[in-house]
Amino acid sequence: MKARVTVLGSGTSHGVPMIGCACAVCTSTDPRDRRTRPSIYVEVDNGPKILVDTSTDLREQALVHRIARVDAILFTHGHADHVMGLDDSRRFSQMQKSAIPCYADALTIASLKKSFYYVFDPQTDQGGGLPQIDLHTIDGPFSIGDIGIQPIPLMHGTRPIIGFRFGDFAYLTDTNHIPEAAWPLLAGVRTIILDALRHRPHPTHFTVAEAIAAAERMRPQHTYLTHICHDLPHAATNAALPAGIELAYDGLLLTIEAAPRWT
Ligand SMILES: [Zn+2]
Ligand SMILES: [Zn+2]
Ligand SMILES: [Zn+2]
Repeated sequence: MKARVTVLGSGTSHGVPMIGCACAVCTSTDPRDRRTRPSIYVEVDNGPKILVDTSTDLREQALVHRIARVDAILFTHGHADHVMGLDDSRRFSQMQKSAIPCYADALTIASLKKSFYYVFDPQTDQGGGLPQIDLHTIDGPFSIGDIGIQPIPLMHGTRPIIGFRFGDFAYLTDTNHIPEAAWPLLAGVRTIILDALRHRPHPTHFTVAEAIAAAERMRPQHTYLTHICHDLPHAATNAALPAGIELAYDGLLLTIEAAPRWT
């Protein structure tokens, strides 16, 4: 089953350009050097449309990429850059006249309930509308419509988070360590999107060199690096990367082979 993946945002938590920065990347005229907060959209023709994370830039991303439907939201973790657009999901539940199923681990569900307390408080004045979401705790492989999804355990500093595998594709953002338990789940993957913040070491994100090493062990055909900060100019960084590895950019479109639902 063919699916399309759109990289909605390829930037780190600050976004690129970063507020108040006049560096060469933040002032670049290359559109690929403009990076919104990290998110992807996975869509199957006549099948489910799945949003991974509700980034701070969700509204802009939905407008730019003409996203008019979201059948489910998957959360990698509860950091601000991955959840702060959640309020804008109310537009999708309004249009679809139904709550949106949201999948996350227990830690992320707890942090969503704190960050968006008003969504879960029955006393909240409905005003301009609230996001209508149904929370589901991820505790193993799950399905959305015809699509089977494999959660991938990742470490993000000391915090366990979740990557997602859809058939021959895996989205592995916000990680600096892929635990041993994850490797068998990634066997045979053909396309990956993998965290690579910058060249300098960071306590919770892969550097470019660390991401390349992880990709070499995973052996996909195509690797795209994401969650990129303003240290990495698109064109010059790409020119120095090994064959089969390149920087993602906002608007990058990939075709993948999704897995059928789990039976
Ligand atoms: Zn900058
Ligand atoms: Zn994070
Ligand atoms: Zn992040």
